[in-house]
Amino acid sequence: MSLDKNLANCINALKSALPAKSYSEDADVIAPYLREWRDKYFGQTPLLLLPASTDEVSQMVKICAQHKISLMPQGGNTGLVGGNTPQGEILINLKRMNAVRAASADDNVLIAEAGLTLIEAQQAAGKIGRKFPLSLASEGSCTIGGNLSTNAGGVHVIKYGTAKELCLGVEAVLPNGDIHHGLSSLKKDNTGYDLSRLFLGAEGTLGIITAASLKLFPKPSSVQRAMAGLNSVTHALALLNLAQNPALTMFEIIPRIGLDLVTTHIPNMRNPFPQNHDWYVLIDWEFYGQEKDSSDQGGQGEQTAQNLLMQAAEAGLIEDAVLAQNESQAANLLALREHMSAAQKFNGGSIKHDVSVPVARLPEFFDLADKASQDCIAGCRPVGFGHLGDGNIHYNVAQPEHMDTEAFLARWDDLTEAIHDVVCDLGGSISAEHGIGIMKKEDLARRADPVKIALMRSLKQTLDPQNIMNPRVMIDI
Ligand SMILES: Cc1cc2nc3c(=O)[nH]c(=O)nc-3n(C[C@H](O)[C@H](O)[C@H](O)COP(=O)(O)OP(=O)(O)OC[C@H]3O[C@@H](n4cnc5c(N)ncnc54)[C@H](O)[C@@H]3O)c2cc1C
Repeated sequence: MSLDKNLANCINALKSALPAKSYSEDADVIAPYLREWRDKYFGQTPLLLLPASTDEVSQMVKICAQHKISLMPQGGNTGLVGGNTPQGEILINLKRMNAVRAASADDNVLIAEAGLTLIEAQQAAGKIGRKFPLSLASEGSCTIGGNLSTNAGGVHVIKYGTAKELCLGVEAVLPNGDIHHGLSSLKKDNTGYDLSRLFLGAEGTLGIITAASLKLFPKPSSVQRAMAGLNSVTHALALLNLAQNPALTMFEIIPRIGLDLVTTHIPNMRNPFPQNHDWYVLIDWEFYGQEKDSSDQGGQGEQTAQNLLMQAAEAGLIEDAVLAQNESQAANLLALREHMSAAQKFNGGSIKHDVSVPVARLPEFFDLADKASQDCIAGCRPVGFGHLGDGNIHYNVAQPEHMDTEAFLARWDDLTEAIHDVVCDLGGSISAEHGIGIMKKEDLARRADPVKIALMRSLKQTLDPQNIMNPRVMIDI
């Protein structure tokens, strides 16, 4: 039987087993699922599956497994490494599975289906007076299933950790269609291997997450936000040291070129400082207690922030600073950071790196990466920004002003090799939060510890011997 015939049989079997709402072959319906946010990857699929329940996912996977047909799971389609764009696999998008199955303030647990968007999960936690602290600029679209499969990071990792650390267990459909029932509300459970962890950060290669048990936290009574202008990454690191206390929730860095791009190209964005600075940092503290009002005007938060900024100014670490006085000012400051990715679309070609190094080595990283970039493409414009508090920098490099975009982008692999060399020399990671996908697969295979790669292959072969679950992503077996 030829593959095409086999695929046609599989599709027929799926269509006759499923309700009409649970699949589509309509090219217009499918089109948005095949194009990712950065327009870097474009895909194709013979069939879009839209399951409404875990049993339906199981049924779909069983039929695909019987025909040895590959599947690609997809959530909000905001992934940035190509792992969410099918190239002939049947695409299974979880967005119809968006129920909150349970929310308990006593347990501090939210049980959410995989297709619930991150913002909906945050809102569901808020309704019972709790906080789900994962926070990304894509939170209006990305889903809990995608967040866990990529082990998403975001702006609150410094206090709460990555998605992995916020998950108590998952329900997942295995590559043979069986269901792993790992939804747990227990903080303590030492009954053998923690199998749910296998699916976290697995990018859909070991199974399809259908629901997750998420950790909730007390809702802070106020958040104080500040932004400081400074002249070096070394000073930003010293400020981070000074700012360390249990209330610290966010510590992000933006270079001058980045802030200029946002204020120039994104409507209603404005630089809060009268003068320009080489670097800016955005800081949040969360407080619990009896502050005056939700903006904490004049309360404990403002006092903490003011003390810190005064100390930093006296030590010559910062050149200027602003404190948000209300929620709207706080939102405006955060928007400057959140629009960093979008603003770079106006700056010509951009070669992107999502990397991390030990926090203490960040100044060295910026120096070495800037030099490596110039050595590779003279005149290029580094735009390194992001989660300084976690050592995670989105080290994007914009094309030289007068270079042809295609010629610049043709140098992607050369530049990435140079940047990843710097990262590895400093003991860092070539993927801090976006994952491996297609983009970094070859790099991972070449740079990772061979024992790690062998173990990953052996796990993949054990769980997915037919290699049908996201087979082009992360690792070849
Ligand atoms: C503007 C913008 C800002 C971003 N900021 C951040 C950030 O700060 N931190 C960060 O970590 N990421 C960030 N991202 C990247 C992205 O939002 C995250 O990787 C997110 O977790 C992906 O979720 P998703 O639902 O969109 O997954 P998708 O893009 O649909 O899929 C991502 C991967 O997960 C797999 N997958 C999806 N759902 C499932 C499932 N239910 N079961 C098994 N596998 C599944 C897919 O096969 C794919 O390999 C950003 C993206 C954008 C566009």
